[in-house]
Amino acid sequence: MKNVFVLIFSVFITTILIPVLLIQRCSVIEPKIEKQQIVESNKVVHVYMHETGEIKTLDLEEYIKGVVAGEMPAAFEMEALKAQAVAARSYAVSRMRAYGKNGHPSHPGAELCDSVHCQVWLSKERLRELKSKNWMKNYWPKIEKAVEETKGLIMTYDNKPVDQPLFHSTSGGRTENSEDVFAAWVPYLRSVESPYEQEAPHLTDQQDISIATFVSKIKKKYPDCNINASNIKSSLKILERSDGGRILKMQVGNKILTGREIRELLGLRSANFKVAIYGEKMRFTTNGYGHGVGMSQWGANGMAKKGYTFDEILKHYYVGVEISKMK
Ligand SMILES: [Zn+2]
Repeated sequence: MKNVFVLIFSVFITTILIPVLLIQRCSVIEPKIEKQQIVESNKVVHVYMHETGEIKTLDLEEYIKGVVAGEMPAAFEMEALKAQAVAARSYAVSRMRAYGKNGHPSHPGAELCDSVHCQVWLSKERLRELKSKNWMKNYWPKIEKAVEETKGLIMTYDNKPVDQPLFHSTSGGRTENSEDVFAAWVPYLRSVESPYEQEAPHLTDQQDISIATFVSKIKKKYPDCNINASNIKSSLKILERSDGGRILKMQVGNKILTGREIRELLGLRSANFKVAIYGEKMRFTTNGYGHGVGMSQWGANGMAKKGYTFDEILKHYYVGVEISKMK
């Protein structure tokens, strides 16, 4: 009799209990949002206002609304706005953890500020001044919805909040590795395809500059550069491009400059460019708009239009991140 019980019990374990446990386990291996428990006791941020010198204490979620309004066109798709909200929140949380009450060295007492130094933040009052009544009526609620629907969600890498959720307007087809544009190698800032940017207004652009202006700008910054109007054609050569197409090294006479240096000097939209000479003019044809690292905002909007959700968009542009819920 005892043996029969043992047999029944063993059959129960092997045929029912273990499979049930396995199935339960499998079902939590790859959930859409990884619910890691990040305990965040302080959900208030201190934001330094550059214009007035004031430090505002804001509820984290209210702060995120002002960042989304300041950093992305509100006409963008809901999933793109949600992706921006999660990126903004990840940055804010990483700042809260890194600087806390002491604040950032550039603005003591505040871990964040309202400018591009951190992320642009606009108060509701400021938005009322800047935008139309219709904008406040139609778009502000949309931004609120994007933030509320992602409440408490951040991107994490290695169980830590992502501290550099960089983004830009338009990549030009492929984003950049962080180390090709800035000094640091960041694991999640890798070059990826950005295939849905067709609607971006500055996917390609042309900018004409006279040869005389180009030479004078170069000479002003690099006085020992040996280019002049007559030798310009033979003095310019693109030597190396990054994975995303931006110029890493360009010969300019006896100097080797980066595409970024030339972009900044001439005010080009991107360091991914070609240059041609027509008579007295140089024509720069740029691809993309911005530094090209991290999320392409127009690419995110294009992905949203194709049906991708905010977490899919973020995981595409920030390689290897997880979406985590703050407790
Ligand atoms: Zn700042």
